[in-house]
Amino acid sequence: MHILITGGAGFIGSNLTKRLVDEGHTVTVIDNLLRGNKIDSSTFEKIKFIKGDVRDFDTVLNASKGCDIVVHFAAILGVDIVADNPVDTMDTEVIGTRNVILASQINNIKKIMYASTSGIYGHSAIGNALTEEVLVDPRTSYAMAKRYNEIYLASHHEEKGIDAIAVRFFNVYGHNQDNRMVVPRFFEQATKGEALTVFGTGKQTRDFTYIDDTVEACVRLLNTKGFHIVNIANEHEWCIDDVAKEIVEITGSSSETSFIDAPKKRYDYEVERRVGSSDKLFELTGYRPNTSLSEGLKKIYKINYNK
Ligand code: UDP
Repeated sequence: MHILITGGAGFIGSNLTKRLVDEGHTVTVIDNLLRGNKIDSSTFEKIKFIKGDVRDFDTVLNASKGCDIVVHFAAILGVDIVADNPVDTMDTEVIGTRNVILASQINNIKKIMYASTSGIYGHSAIGNALTEEVLVDPRTSYAMAKRYNEIYLASHHEEKGIDAIAVRFFNVYGHNQDNRMVVPRFFEQATKGEALTVFGTGKQTRDFTYIDDTVEACVRLLNTKGFHIVNIANEHEWCIDDVAKEIVEITGSSSETSFIDAPKKRYDYEVERRVGSSDKLFELTGYRPNTSLSEGLKKIYKINYNK
C-alpha cells in the first residue's frame, strides 16, 4: 500500500514509518520537523519526505495523491509546550485534520487513522479501566481539539462514507521519545546523576504503553473497516514515584527522588488516575499490548544507552 504519514518524523510516527517501510509499503511523510527528524537514515532513504505543515492545504493535497491510507499523527504535544501554545495547538489539530479529510476525499483515500489521546478522559477514571464508552472529560485545548476531531471524523464517515479510526494513546514511551515526557526525562536525570523530579505526591497514576506494542496495534488497526475510536493501553496502572524508583534501579543510578510542585501551567492537565482497557482493540484485532513497564524500560535503557 501507499501510506501518507503526517508527523511521520516524530516519536510515534517515526517508529510506525520504519515498521511500514520494513513491511514493504510505500511511505510518504509530511513533517514540519518541529522536534527534528527522528527517522533513521536507512528508513529515510526509502521514503518520500516532504517538509511541510499540515495547516497548508496544498501540501496535504499533493502529498496524498495516489495514497491508499493517511495516518494523521502531526500534532503539537507535550504538556508544557501545549500549555504555552494553546492556539497553535488547536490550529494544528483543527485546520490540519480538516485539510487531511478534504484532501482524502478529493484523492479517494480509503481510510484515515488519527492520533487521539487518552487525555480526552480527563478526570473520568474513577472505577474500572477506561473503556471507549466512558463519558469523556476534555478540559484542555489539546484534549478538546482531539475530541472535536474524533467527532469530525465520525461525521465525515457518516455523511461522506470515508473509513476512519481514532486511536487513543495511553502514555506511549520508548525509542525516539524526547524528554518532554516523563519516562525519557527520568532516564536523563537518572543517567546524569540528577534528582528525579516527581511532581506532587507521585501517587498519580498512568498507564504506560510500549512503543512497539503501540505500533503493532496501529498496523493491525489499519485493516479495520468503518469508523472506530479505539484505546491503545497497556492496562496496568503505575504511580509516578514507582516509575522513578524503577528507572533508578534499572540504571543503577545514585540519584535521589525529589518531590516538587508541578509547574502551575500543568495544573489543568494533571489527572490523578489514568488506566485504559484494550478490550475493544482486542475485539477488533486479536491483539493487546503486552510489554510490562519494567520490560519496556529495560529495552529502552539497552537501545538508548547501549546497556
Ligand atoms: N511528571 C513528573 N515529573 C516530571 C514530568 C512529569 O512527576 O518531570 C508526572 C506528571 O505530573 C504526570 C506524569 O508524570 O502525572 C506523566 O506526565 P507526562 O507529561 O509524561 O504525560 P501526561 O500524562 O501528563 O500527558
